[in-house]
Amino acid sequence: MMLFSEHNLLRGTRTVGSIEVICGSMFSGKTEELIRRLRRAQFAKLAVEIFKPEMDIRYDAEEVVSHDSNSISSTPVSHSSAILLLSADTQVVGIDEAQFFDDGLPEVCIELANRGLRVIVAGLDMDYQGQPFGPVPALMAIAEEVTKVHAVCVCCGAPANYSYRLSPSEDRVLLGEKESYEPRCRNCYYQLNINPSS
Ligand SMILES: [Zn+2]
Repeated sequence: MMLFSEHNLLRGTRTVGSIEVICGSMFSGKTEELIRRLRRAQFAKLAVEIFKPEMDIRYDAEEVVSHDSNSISSTPVSHSSAILLLSADTQVVGIDEAQFFDDGLPEVCIELANRGLRVIVAGLDMDYQGQPFGPVPALMAIAEEVTKVHAVCVCCGAPANYSYRLSPSEDRVLLGEKESYEPRCRNCYYQLNINPSS
């Protein structure tokens, strides 16, 4: 799948910036898709920078690490405004775990895209309560392209877009995600007891 923005850059035409959002539940392959797009940009000899919020300390501080360990090195930043300062000589900016950034992130992405950069943002669209998460909904609104990726519901095997929390904690952010969450479809997340064959 070649995106229009990728097409534009790869053809060497005058670059027009753009914003792409990759979102979904946990275990939906958001980071893998981000890395796939960034690697293609690297193959095209474009200058790529990757940022993530400093608080995401589950894994290596220097790498965007997806669940299959298919990684690209990245820079942790404490505030979205730092991304502007650190993107001076960059053509493609990747941002992972966008839901944990401050509310300034959409304005930062607009500024980067208006400078002519391709901005690719990955993050959770909903928190464990099924509510829109952090700056991601605003990013979805201003993006040229939004891709929703899906996990597989552990209960019934349907495409899943909810992150069901297994622990009783009510903190919005809970580290150690693999043990604490499972992907579920709408029926199984809300326990609607709808029999698809009836
Ligand atoms: Zn299900």
